[in-house]
Amino acid sequence: MKILLLGKNGQVGWELQRSLAPLGELIALDRNPVDGLTGDLSNPDELRKTIRQIAPDVIVNAAAYTAVDKAESEAELADRINGQATQVMALEAAALDALLIHYSTDYVFSGAGIKPWQETDSVSPVNHYGFSKLAGEQAIIASGCKHLIFRTSWVYGARGNNFAKTMLRLARERETLNVIDDQIGAPTGADLIADVTVLTIRQVCSNPELAGLYHLAAGGAVSWYDYAVHVIDFAKANGGSLAVKALQPIPTTAYPTPAARPLNSRLDTFKLRNNFSLHLPDWQSGVTRMLREVLDK
Ligand code: NDP
Repeated sequence: MKILLLGKNGQVGWELQRSLAPLGELIALDRNPVDGLTGDLSNPDELRKTIRQIAPDVIVNAAAYTAVDKAESEAELADRINGQATQVMALEAAALDALLIHYSTDYVFSGAGIKPWQETDSVSPVNHYGFSKLAGEQAIIASGCKHLIFRTSWVYGARGNNFAKTMLRLARERETLNVIDDQIGAPTGADLIADVTVLTIRQVCSNPELAGLYHLAAGGAVSWYDYAVHVIDFAKANGGSLAVKALQPIPTTAYPTPAARPLNSRLDTFKLRNNFSLHLPDWQSGVTRMLREVLDK
């Protein structure tokens, strides 16, 4: 099996380089050209040529425009990367009869209410990043290609920056931290996403009827505030020397950002767990593992 991985150095892309390797011949690209191949999603024509040259059996797209606030002022670029480039992948996958794996977001939803979102719930993004990611989903579905779209949330990896590492840094520098307590979601490890991706690819290869749109997030739900409390408590219990004395819960309205954020980011993962007989561990287990890696350095 020949697999093309795009966005190999992002949080999820990095973990996919590991998890996809035993599945088959892996060609992993980032935005820089190598040997006439380019995975630059801002250049859909070159991307099309690259896919045709490789002719993969599976395309895994971990690349995306993910700068949520900047997307408000760079809408055209976000649309090109998250929408048009995804459409190119989908049309090429359809022509090759290849399987396309793509990642999307809880930000396609409005964030209203407290019920976990199901795949069949209506979408209504509150920011431009969400609109651009929705355009990518719609292009895939319209192309008729074989696909797995995973909507996920609050992604972290041991490599690169993430919320927990930011909290740890701030907790070393400041005595008080203000953290939003009315946005609720599930911190989801890039390693879990990568492992689930491989398990589902294998099953879809033998049972194509399983292809489709799925919600993929760790179990449970937490606010950013309680997530921060978990991180700080763990660091303190494990010998971390921190300056922080108090964590202060604040509402989203007290922390204005260029892009609005949905309050309810809970994703209902029943369809994924049921169709693929999978268990999704609680968010705490993955976060604790990541904290161990970060604090042991
Ligand atoms: P990252 O931001 O860590 O990685 C995105 C990758 O895309 C980076 O390697 C980046 O490369 C690459 N990229 C950006 N622009 C281009 C381009 N023009 N051409 C090629 N590559 C490009 O994202 P994650 O790994 O966290 O996200 C993976 C997927 O999950 C995405 O689809 C995202 O929308 C989705 N998602 C993420 C969430 C999160 O909390 N992070 C939440 C919900 C969904 P470079 O480093 O060179 O810029």
